[in-house]
Amino acid sequence: MTRKRIAFGGIHTECSTYSRIRTLLQHFRVLRGDALRQSPTFQFLNQYHHEFLPTLHARAVPGGPVELETYHLLKAEFLDRLKTYLPVDGVYLALHGAMFVEGMQDIEGDWIAATRALVGDHCPISTSYDLHGNLSRRIIHNLDMLSAYRTAPHIDVEETGIRACNMLVRCLETNSKHGLIWVPMPVLMPGERSSTEDQPAKRLYAKLETINQQSAIEDASLLVGYVWADEPRATASVVLTVTQKTEALEKTAETLAQQYWDAREEFNFGTVKTGTIAECLTWAAESQTNPVILADSGDNPTGGGVGDRAEVLEHLLQLGFQNALVAAIADAPATEACYKAGDGATLPLTIGASLDPQGSRPVHIQAQVIHLSDSDDRQAVIISSGVTIVLSARRRPYHYIQDFKNLNLTIQNFRLLVVKSGYLSPELAPIANPNLMALSDGAINQDIEGLPPNQFRPPTYPFNKTLQWTPRAVWSSRF
Ligand SMILES: [Zn+2]
Repeated sequence: MTRKRIAFGGIHTECSTYSRIRTLLQHFRVLRGDALRQSPTFQFLNQYHHEFLPTLHARAVPGGPVELETYHLLKAEFLDRLKTYLPVDGVYLALHGAMFVEGMQDIEGDWIAATRALVGDHCPISTSYDLHGNLSRRIIHNLDMLSAYRTAPHIDVEETGIRACNMLVRCLETNSKHGLIWVPMPVLMPGERSSTEDQPAKRLYAKLETINQQSAIEDASLLVGYVWADEPRATASVVLTVTQKTEALEKTAETLAQQYWDAREEFNFGTVKTGTIAECLTWAAESQTNPVILADSGDNPTGGGVGDRAEVLEHLLQLGFQNALVAAIADAPATEACYKAGDGATLPLTIGASLDPQGSRPVHIQAQVIHLSDSDDRQAVIISSGVTIVLSARRRPYHYIQDFKNLNLTIQNFRLLVVKSGYLSPELAPIANPNLMALSDGAINQDIEGLPPNQFRPPTYPFNKTLQWTPRAVWSSRF
């Protein structure tokens, strides 16, 4: 078998169009050339007999819209690198699907269409996608294969990449034609109401594996979409990658879409208890078990929140709540002030609203520095009135036990841990005793029906509760 030459790369971030902050070039981790080839994320490509050619892959913590110039720079470099490999036998793109760039629409469509224009009509392109990604006609008509995560929280990231590449490799090895069927559904739910660990998403996603076993179906994907995007393409979707063009396959896609639509009123916050910040802190104070883990959901940076808000801290201090840990508030000036003062120092600090001063207000406290991280990632641990607070110079999540260990913090030693998160990460969820979610304000407020009026989104449930809808499959024009 001749070794095929497959170029790979892409761009991966998620942007709330309701955020006032901007994602700039320095916020992306950009891997290119050999660094991309050696990245742990793409090690799975080594299992193939074929040659995978690294272009560029850029990834940023979800946040606000990406600055236009940053996008143009990254895209131009990706295309330049792709050009040096031409002609290629195939392309694998690793994308998220909910990126937004100031002044543009359908960014992944723009990226994929530019890739298509360069590699030509006969070169198959396969992509992996986040299930919180949005699709468009331009995307469907330029792609040959797509596979999206089947779990939220996402624990099948590598498996999804493997599914996308297995299809591509099979297509090249057997010289077969692959194509997409797409059924967009006018439903948008926040990720927190559509976790695949809770109903109805659990049973809907469980169908994918069975559907995928049908012989002409190479991949079955179901996408929740991204609700904090004011774009015409923001919808949930069913996507099948198939090897035949039959009515039966169209029916399979439409049936799954109908089942999703029929379940639309069932989407909710699962078993997690939700309330206002004040309600959640009352429940936390009454809890006989610990650690209570409270997710400050509106300001969750992994969903596009800013991560700089201090409302929960303000409430804790007002209540005189003892033995709580807040991890973390993104605040570069306060973090730097702690480094300047030094370990053990006591200093006055202004915390919060440093990135988006219009979004919230800061708190003013006296605090003692109890730990300064010696990693490049500047983080300070401080204590004030019985509350331990992690300050971080950059926007980032605290989803892993190791994130706390690195700061000499043991979660179980606290009555309450406050994290900026939606549903908890797979490492934090099992130790939450109990898990609470504050439906707090922020760039990804869970009260989606209370979002500012949008310009571009078509009528969609739950914004339009009386909507009538019948599924209609769209075939990729390439098939
Ligand atoms: Zn996601």
